Amino acid sequence: MLEVFLTEEQKRFRREVQDFVKSVPRQLILDMDADKVKFPYEFVREAGRRNLLGIRFPKKYGGRELKWVDEILYIGEINKLGVPFACLCSVTSIVGEGLNLFGTEAQKEKYLKPLIAGTQWAGEALTEPRGGSDFFGATTVARKKGGYYYLTGQKRFTVGAEGADFFLVYAVTNPGGGRDALSAFIVERDMGVEVRHVYGLMGCRGTGTGRLVFRDVPVPEENLLGKENEGSKIFYKMMVPERLLSGGVGGSRAILEIAARYANKRKAFGQTIRNFEGVNFKIADCITKLDAVSAFAYAVAKTIDDGVGTPGYQRRLVSEVKKLATQTYWEVVNDAMQILGGIGYTNVYPVERALREARLAMIWTGTNEIMNLIIQHEYYKEILAKEVEGRDVEADVALTQEQLAEERIYEAEPITTAP
Ligand SMILES: Cc1cc2nc3c(=O)[nH]c(=O)nc-3n(C[C@H](O)[C@H](O)[C@H](O)COP(=O)(O)OP(=O)(O)OC[C@H]3O[C@@H](n4cnc5c(N)ncnc54)[C@H](O)[C@@H]3O)c2cc1C
Repeated sequence: MLEVFLTEEQKRFRREVQDFVKSVPRQLILDMDADKVKFPYEFVREAGRRNLLGIRFPKKYGGRELKWVDEILYIGEINKLGVPFACLCSVTSIVGEGLNLFGTEAQKEKYLKPLIAGTQWAGEALTEPRGGSDFFGATTVARKKGGYYYLTGQKRFTVGAEGADFFLVYAVTNPGGGRDALSAFIVERDMGVEVRHVYGLMGCRGTGTGRLVFRDVPVPEENLLGKENEGSKIFYKMMVPERLLSGGVGGSRAILEIAARYANKRKAFGQTIRNFEGVNFKIADCITKLDAVSAFAYAVAKTIDDGVGTPGYQRRLVSEVKKLATQTYWEVVNDAMQILGGIGYTNVYPVERALREARLAMIWTGTNEIMNLIIQHEYYKEILAKEVEGRDVEADVALTQEQLAEERIYEAEPITTAP
């Protein structure tokens, strides 16, 4: 985060988060990466104990009532531990967003409070084996009978499949209903959720990412979140933290700093490699991009905090943050590895772990192709709904109106046969 945006209170809060981040044992990071830890219970419990989970949510449920800009700052610091840790803290924010905005008082007491306290953990189960990008094509169904919904289907890649106490699950309650087909449910593991496979991952290990199977799992009707067939409303709100929090790029800043310090010491051809333009221009490009991402993420977080613009406009900006931040994260870590040369590819530095983790960010929480789909869709909607604002730059050419009418052609003219 750029210093200019931070208040003294935010600087204090950052120090508090930094203290927590510093306290996390290095061995936990290593053990998670080595798949020795299935789920870092102690990490989430400690985060909860320090009141560092669900920081935006109301104080009455244990939150701090902070803003989106604070959460970007927060996640940027957590991210220095690695993407899996930032992911776990984000899940509280994502599932918590659904519970906080759409939950009944009883649901907030039962699920949101312990989630923020770190005494219970949640997973969000959106993606299915048949695909994640086409969210509304979900095939997991919920059939109502008596006071229960019976859930049948599968979800894939759920973080916390191993570790979570309950899941936020989307299932079809209105087949063929398009965007009104889905409802969201709070499903406790003990209601009958089966974990069928825990994935071997390239990176981001230790968060219990697995495949869930639901076979007629009875979910009491009081565990319907929001209204029946209105799952899309919850989904759109949850996508704000899901994607905006990518803007906390503290991890790649830390990796870039490792590369810059290395270049300042490492010698080749009788001088420090920092002197080579091929190295120092990479550093310049990386820090420029990271600062641009941080400023942009802050601006978008403030846009949401201040309620500026339509939901579509906010959706576009949030998707832009996700795409730009994750692409930049990858590029920076990749360049850092190049600067370290061969040693960067080994476990002598944490750069190789960061590279493996960075790759995922362009895929999950909606791939960057899906971000492009949203961005262009919302942008077209915006510009085509209004006249050009301010100066009409398209008119600043030397041609007359008649010439323009002849030259600005947008489609083939119909072929006419000569009389
Ligand atoms: C480690 C890990 C953790 C995850 N955690 C969770 C979690 O906790 N909860 C959860 O619900 N999900 C989670 N996911 C799932 C993740 O969000 C999905 O993998 C992602 O949304 C993509 O879905 P998919 O893998 O099914 O790919 P697909 O949807 O099959 O897409 C395959 C490719 O096609 C492209 N594509 C698809 N449609 C279009 C289109 N219209 N235009 C252009 N390109 C398109 C995609 O961009 C992608 O490149 C996780 C995934 C991983 C790997």
